[in-house]
Amino acid sequence: MKAQEIKLNDRKRAYNAALLCLLIYIAYIGASFAVNSFLFNHVYDVYLIMLVICAAFFRVRSYLIFIAISQAINLLLTIFVLPDYASGDVWLHFSLMLSGSVILFVVMYFAANKSVEVDRAFASFGALMKITPSVLILVNEDNKIKYLSQSVRRVLNISEPESFVGRNFLELFNEDSVKELFAETVKKRSFSENYQKITINEQVKTFDVFADNMSDNAKDGMFFMLNDVSEIVRLKELAEQDSLMDSLVQVPNRRSFDRRILHEWNRALREKVNLSFLMMDIDFFKKYNDTYGHRQGDELLKVAGRVFKKSLKRSTDFVARIGGEEFAVLLYATNSYQANVIAEQIRRAIEDEVILTSGGEKTKFTISIGVVTLIPNVDMECGHIVDVADKALYNAKQNGRNRVWVADSV
Ligand code: GH3
Ligand code: MG
Ligand code: MG
Repeated sequence: MKAQEIKLNDRKRAYNAALLCLLIYIAYIGASFAVNSFLFNHVYDVYLIMLVICAAFFRVRSYLIFIAISQAINLLLTIFVLPDYASGDVWLHFSLMLSGSVILFVVMYFAANKSVEVDRAFASFGALMKITPSVLILVNEDNKIKYLSQSVRRVLNISEPESFVGRNFLELFNEDSVKELFAETVKKRSFSENYQKITINEQVKTFDVFADNMSDNAKDGMFFMLNDVSEIVRLKELAEQDSLMDSLVQVPNRRSFDRRILHEWNRALREKVNLSFLMMDIDFFKKYNDTYGHRQGDELLKVAGRVFKKSLKRSTDFVARIGGEEFAVLLYATNSYQANVIAEQIRRAIEDEVILTSGGEKTKFTISIGVVTLIPNVDMECGHIVDVADKALYNAKQNGRNRVWVADSV
């Protein structure tokens, strides 16, 4: 497809060159009349027609060689053959012919050089099309593919990209939804979208998509550039998930909690439902650390995290580690009674847990829980529910620990 395109471009230049030939040869015919020879007049007519035909079908470089040879023959004929047949001014004819040949040669030389430049530009373009990881597709004004990068093999799973040249751009895609998207793009002639989900062979991939006209002239067609960012997006999501998880306890962290409470608060405010909140703190954790070591303390935190996760059954229930040994539970659409039951279950589950130290010693621990349930209203701030639960937790601690304390006034 590349070679074909170069030849077309070449031919355009050859047509221009032919036009120049026409003008110069009109002068030549005049020159031939200077020698007043019927035979030579017709030789030039035929030569002129041949030149135009060759200009249309030869490549510029071949054309240049053709002109050089035929002009050399012309000059030889003028010097050695013409004087025997002509009755006019042979030397006037010779000088007109010589200057015409020089002009023609110079013009053709520049045309050929230009053509080499175009060849080179297309060669680099071809190399770019081969190596670019982006999917690059150039279509003409009828949306037929002119070029497509080799990356379509890998990204769009197309084994023979060349077979798509000359076919409609939309044939590259199987999914109707994708065809629709690009049919719309083709109509608008301009499109730019980051993180566009596109289904390819039943696999959803994420692309940055850019499409635009090649130039102000719609006849130059348009280009499509698709950058497969699926892997980047996957890593980004993983990193985001990571940044929201507590790496030690494997439950959501404080940052995740801050987002979630705002979300649930607003949801409960809109839907006018109960939001329950449990603030949990491990009892005498400092002492546990001091007795069994910090690493054993970490083990305890992991066990606590596992028990909390196991105790929460509904998909809307949410637990997070919000401080060193402090955990928070959000229970959406859960009334005070239900929240109290869940808190009690958690407290008991922790109480039943036995942790073995590295020395084989059996250890136990307890937690205190402050519980609050409320239906948010517009006069309240989201932090209010945390403050109330904090006070309830304080009461649980003050009243002997290992207990659930339900806040009475909110
Ligand atoms: P209380 O019953 O009143 O809650 O007493 P406490 O000892 O649990 O409370 P205090 O706030 O005095 O101590 C909390 C301890 O938690 C102190 C700190 O060393 C420990 N801690 C905080 N984060 C971690 C952690 O990630 N790992 C371990 N092993 N200990 C932690
Ligand atoms: Mg504490
Ligand atoms: Mg504590």
